[in-house]
Amino acid sequence: MAAMKKKRLCAVCKKEFLPNSGVQIVCSDICKSIRIRDQYRKKRGTKVYNRECIICGKPFETAREKQITCGSEDCQKEHLRHLSLENNRKARQRREEVRKHRKNIPWNIPATADPFKNFELHCQGFVPDAAICPLG
Ligand SMILES: [Zn+2]
Ligand SMILES: [Zn+2]
Repeated sequence: MAAMKKKRLCAVCKKEFLPNSGVQIVCSDICKSIRIRDQYRKKRGTKVYNRECIICGKPFETAREKQITCGSEDCQKEHLRHLSLENNRKARQRREEVRKHRKNIPWNIPATADPFKNFELHCQGFVPDAAICPLG
């Protein structure tokens, strides 16, 4: 009579699984690759960040300092969408500031092709009233 296989707890996800061999300590290939990755990081002393995904709120681990989403495709797409919305908003704000500022640029300052150049001219004291430059 074959011995009953004993269930084990996966070393990675902590779920119960039936090992195929006496040495198997993870439930699946996915957990196996996670374990190998973790061991590799530990060896190299890579700093691992524990974060919560800013989109779905799920906790995740990452070695990349700048990663703020869990890495799922949906969250990444959503995050990119947010980013481009935010960039559009900033661009609009900047244009609005340029427009406002332009009104304050005296007639004797040569207009350059680059409106931001005018900011510089204005704020660098080319104008006596530079102190009240609305952009500081
Ligand atoms: Zn597992
Ligand atoms: Zn997520």
